[in-house]
Amino acid sequence: TPVDAGGWRLEHSYAQLPALFHRAVAPTPVEAPRLVVFNRRLADALGLGAGALETEAGAAIFAGNVLPPGARPLAQAYAGHQYGHFTTLGDGRAILLGEQLTPEGARFDVQLKGAGPTPFSRRGDGRAALGPMLREYIISEAMQALGIPTTRSLAVAATGETVWRETAEPGAVLTRVAASHVRVGTFQWAAAQGGVEALRVLVGYTVRRHYPELGAAENPAGALLEAVIARQAALIAQWMQVGFVHGVMNTDNMAVSGETIDYGPCAFLERYDPAAVFSSIDRHGRYAYGNQPAIAQWNLARFAEALLPLLDAKEELAVERATASLAAFGPQFRAHSLAGMRRKLGLGNEETDDAALVEDLLAWMHAAKADFTNTFAGLTVERASAGNDEAGESDGAFRTWHERWVARLGRQTLTREAAGALRRASNPAFIPRNHLVEAALGAAVAGDVGPMERLLDVLARPYDHERAAPEFRAPAADGGVGYRTFC
Ligand code: AMP
Ligand code: MG
Ligand code: MG
Repeated sequence: TPVDAGGWRLEHSYAQLPALFHRAVAPTPVEAPRLVVFNRRLADALGLGAGALETEAGAAIFAGNVLPPGARPLAQAYAGHQYGHFTTLGDGRAILLGEQLTPEGARFDVQLKGAGPTPFSRRGDGRAALGPMLREYIISEAMQALGIPTTRSLAVAATGETVWRETAEPGAVLTRVAASHVRVGTFQWAAAQGGVEALRVLVGYTVRRHYPELGAAENPAGALLEAVIARQAALIAQWMQVGFVHGVMNTDNMAVSGETIDYGPCAFLERYDPAAVFSSIDRHGRYAYGNQPAIAQWNLARFAEALLPLLDAKEELAVERATASLAAFGPQFRAHSLAGMRRKLGLGNEETDDAALVEDLLAWMHAAKADFTNTFAGLTVERASAGNDEAGESDGAFRTWHERWVARLGRQTLTREAAGALRRASNPAFIPRNHLVEAALGAAVAGDVGPMERLLDVLARPYDHERAAPEFRAPAADGGVGYRTFC
């Protein structure tokens, strides 16, 4: 692949899949492209010349008016279970330009989200509003800085056009960068529309792209199922540890790479509550914070169902294999979860009562309506208060828990300094608090990107506990309970 002067080095492995998996479609040009935010560090990592792109020429590319050299735009086909109901979908407003090869040889999808209609748009306009695209930019980059596998955001370009949602909103295009956009729903599409041969091709492709170590597996589909289950168990545990609520865990929004994908109605917990739901359309709490592990497992069961014909020639044995693989999710999730919680508490060894120690803290947090992030951030120092949450200091239940924890800290070989460093590295001081995100978006949509840039700067170093930025630590007045997201 030739490298363009701007650093573009696009390949098209996905486009080489059978026609069933994609439709060629170009972005629809927009009236007045303008870069609103551009991710220099990511551009550098991708081998793209940031200087050349932070220009009108870059705005034209990121708005979809000009294709970068070597692009071969397409929309991806997929299906999915949305709120439990199976449906065919596909990229209705996203267009893949190609796969950028980095100077290190890694491969990343470069996709324009909101780039105009595609053959999968149904009644949608193929467009996106500026607010939600900036929201995806902020939250995905925050997740990256938190150390959680995620798609990235390279740029948001305003289109100069109006999109109609509840009201008239400024339009925008987000450039999303991902290990790939192959989803559980892509496998469901293959199973429903293409049959066993299409599935076999997709399994081979996914293994080569994301799990090359499984290339020699005697049953690639079975090995892939297990590997995807393992990555999702790790991913969901990481979400839970920072209070992330994805909000729309449909099977088309679960990437087989193990990255977090599709930042629509997501939000972060402030006040700890397992039943917390932020999405305005999730009326039954299907995607509530505490439901996320169970829903992930449900989605993985749909993945296993799609793969069934490849797991064994005999259906009974295929079901047996799928069931056994799925049964591993729970124990794997709980192991990651407990290991992560031990780090958050600064524990370098294991005791059988650790799970109870964690559960009792969470039970106290729930009863005390404590701020999730600040409670753990408060534990980065050993004093008996729960961070910025004044409730902790005078709360007898918390003091009792705290004494147990301090005693437990003494029963390990980690030094106090090492245990403190472990906690500081595992408990963020800064998360994208919903009210901060909303304020930044409101200002940006009104033309002032200053607040968003300050927020992005804070979120880029979430574990910088020394940073004096109290306004970025304070929870919303209502603990975030009244917050609603729309997608
Ligand atoms: P999501 O809820 O973001 O996962 O999207 C679900 C499906 O709706 C996907 O197939 C999207 O491509 C499609 N979609 C969402 N918004 C639009 C839009 N404005 N125009 C066309 N398709 C859309
Ligand atoms: Mg989606
Ligand atoms: Mg979405």
